[in-house]
Amino acid sequence: MMLEKVKTKKQDFKRYRGLISEVLFAEVKKLARKLRDLKVVHVNSTPEGGGVAEILKTLVPLMENVGLCAEWYTIPGDEEFFDKKFLHDSLQGAKKNIPDDFFDYYLSHLENIAKLFNDIKADVWVIHDPQPAGLIKFVPHMHPAISRFHIDTSSPNKKTFDFFLPILEAYDKIIFSAEDFACKEIPKDKINIFQPAIDPFSLKNKTMSSTQIKTILKKLGINSKKPLISQISRFDLWKDPLGVLKAYKIAKKKVPELQLVLAGIFLAKDDPGSEKMYKEIKKRTIKEKDVFLFGEPKTTKGIDVDIFVNVIQRASNVVLQKSIKEGFGLTVTEAMWKGKVVIGGNIGGIKKQIKNEENGFLVKSPEETAKKIIKIIEDKKLRRKIGRKARESVKENFLMSRLLRDYLSLFREIM
Ligand code: UDP
Repeated sequence: MMLEKVKTKKQDFKRYRGLISEVLFAEVKKLARKLRDLKVVHVNSTPEGGGVAEILKTLVPLMENVGLCAEWYTIPGDEEFFDKKFLHDSLQGAKKNIPDDFFDYYLSHLENIAKLFNDIKADVWVIHDPQPAGLIKFVPHMHPAISRFHIDTSSPNKKTFDFFLPILEAYDKIIFSAEDFACKEIPKDKINIFQPAIDPFSLKNKTMSSTQIKTILKKLGINSKKPLISQISRFDLWKDPLGVLKAYKIAKKKVPELQLVLAGIFLAKDDPGSEKMYKEIKKRTIKEKDVFLFGEPKTTKGIDVDIFVNVIQRASNVVLQKSIKEGFGLTVTEAMWKGKVVIGGNIGGIKKQIKNEENGFLVKSPEETAKKIIKIIEDKKLRRKIGRKARESVKENFLMSRLLRDYLSLFREIM
């Protein structure tokens, strides 16, 4: 078993000059000067797939670029260890208790791999999400340490939460994405709230010409002249792809040409369960010629996944993120940055990203989703107005420069 040191592409913080406020730009530079050569080690469970990897891909090299020494490692584990139906779902509130032997297995696996960290030294550790969190028990030099929980822990399964509480208490600081995800049992001065952010310059978010978009849509068999809605998300129960399908079927009665893309390319090694959900959706849409499913990597016809996501979001008239639980939907921010109207589930982190009727829409049911889809598709003016607001709000709050600042100030506080 090995730790994987994840290689990232170089970043240049100077590119943010002009895009973000001078105040924020100067603040980052000042903090970074004081933290020069600080060794920061990030640990998570997968080098690709899902929001955490997406953030680290940019955040780690940005930290490097401003003068820190940042590294990123992913831990090894088998399907059972990473199975999202255990820790992830349970901490997000799944009612069914995890069997005791899973907790034993979780601890013994982390105890086993703890030795892989013997030669890794850091001035500060950032451990992302529950899978590697328990390492703190077995790696004595893992201090000062920050636990970064990206999931919605506002109403966790009690048994699982009780198991995690002493683990969280062993950390010096804990970061959640929203105030209501932080549990009362943890002292307030240990808690920090950081909202996730996106990289505006990445392949996934950079500007694309309409010709490029049309060419790629054609290759994928999607008609660029017909209206399109999409949800780009792992095929996971909490993301509610079945609810999206239901909403689509209702809306299609009013907008007969409507097309739907459901994409969740299987990339994450910590998400072995999503193929099952994908198969279920495939079964239900076999006769729907205007529904396009993307799961297996080969379905994107050789198009880079980031470009694929970029194109689908830009080509959509409406982007959906109809989650039932969500720590923070990066996909919501990615689409809003592209000036898209997003209809999101009225829950968790999405409520912090979308202000209903102002820069997007929040919904509770497939029926409500369908109504909004129809309304937005029929009203171009509304689409433009909301889309403009959506982009502005991302520029102000959800770009990586702000998240970098949040981390740097926390490191200053700890050091
Ligand atoms: N994503 C992707 N390909 C897919 C589906 C999702 O690259 O087929 C990306 C998506 O663009 C986003 C991340 O995976 O950057 C998902 O992050 P989010 O916070 O929305 O959800 P999570 O998967 O972390 O629960």
